[in-house]
Amino acid sequence: MVDEHARRRLAAVSRRLAAEGLVSGAGGNVSLRTPQGILITPSGLPCAETGPDDLVLVDLEGRVLEGTRKPSSETPMHLAVYRHHPQVGGIVHTHSLYASAFATAGREIPPYHYMVAAVGDRVPLAPYATFGTDALAESVVRTLGGRYGAALLERHGVLAVGATPEEALDRAVAVEHVAHVTYLALQLGYPEPLPPDEVQRLVERFKTYGKAEPPEA
Ligand code: 13P
Ligand code: ZN
Repeated sequence: MVDEHARRRLAAVSRRLAAEGLVSGAGGNVSLRTPQGILITPSGLPCAETGPDDLVLVDLEGRVLEGTRKPSSETPMHLAVYRHHPQVGGIVHTHSLYASAFATAGREIPPYHYMVAAVGDRVPLAPYATFGTDALAESVVRTLGGRYGAALLERHGVLAVGATPEEALDRAVAVEHVAHVTYLALQLGYPEPLPPDEVQRLVERFKTYGKAEPPEA
C-alpha cells in the first residue's frame, strides 16, 4: 500500500496545478515515483477536484496496483520518462496557455529570458504525436534526452520533470512565465538570444538555486 502522505502530497500538487492556472477542464496530470510504484492522477477528473483517494498506483509497465479509477491517459508518457531517467521522481503535464501557443505554432522557446535556464539552454519542442500514445512517450523521452527539465509537446502543452513533483511544478510555472514574457517581447521586436556562455552560466546557477548549502564534511 502506498502511504497516505504520498497520496496527500500528490493531490496537493494536482490542486496547485489548477490554482496556478496551468490547466483547464480535465487537462493535465501529475505523478510521483514511490517505492511501491508510480502514483498518478486519474483520467478525466479536473486537477482542482482530484483528492488523495482518486489517485491510482501503477507499476512501471502500467498495470494498476491500487485505485478504482482509470489512470491518466498520459500514463505511457509518464512511465517512459521514469523508465529512462532514474533521477526523475515527479512529473507534471500542463496545457498552460502561452507555452501551448508556442507548441501549437511548432516553435521551441529560445533563451531570450534568463529563466529558460531553469529548464536548459532552451525549452525544446517534442514533435507531435497523438495524446496518450507510446509515440508521444517516445517523442518526449527523445527530446528531454536527460538534459532538459521540461519540453513543449507540439500542438498540445508542456511536460516538466523534477527530483520531486514539487520541483516539476516549479519548472512548469517557470516555462509558462518564460513563454508569456517571450510572447510579449516578440511583439516589441525581435530579441537577441542570451550569449551561449551566459546561458551555460545560468544553467549551472539554477542547479543550486533555492537549495540549501550541503553541510561541511
Ligand atoms: P487525462 O485526464 O487522461 O489525465 O488526460 C488529460 C490530458 O492532458 C491528455 O493529454
Ligand atoms: Zn494533455
